[in-house]
Amino acid sequence: MGKLKTPDWVLEGKKEPKEKKKSKTFKIRKCPKCGSDDVFVVLGMDDGNGKGEWECKRCKWVGKILKEEEVSEDEFIKYLEKKGEIKWKIGNFSA
Ligand SMILES: [Zn+2]
Repeated sequence: MGKLKTPDWVLEGKKEPKEKKKSKTFKIRKCPKCGSDDVFVVLGMDDGNGKGEWECKRCKWVGKILKEEEVSEDEFIKYLEKKGEIKWKIGNFSA
């Protein structure tokens, strides 16, 4: 077995360097059939852990693989505002 070279960051007592910082992204889950984001987890009856399946409220699609859309933080906030979730949270907070 060849001798492995100790990385410089170990010799210098540094922490392992992290990968380049990516800009934060968020995922929006959507129904692959109709594109609606009105999806929810289908709960299993046997173990209570769910079947790992999703159901679309709009078109009644059921499946495991949702369409995931990666968006930036700004876009995600806009998306939440559109859904009214931010308003709901602020309203709930001040109550
Ligand atoms: Zn759908």
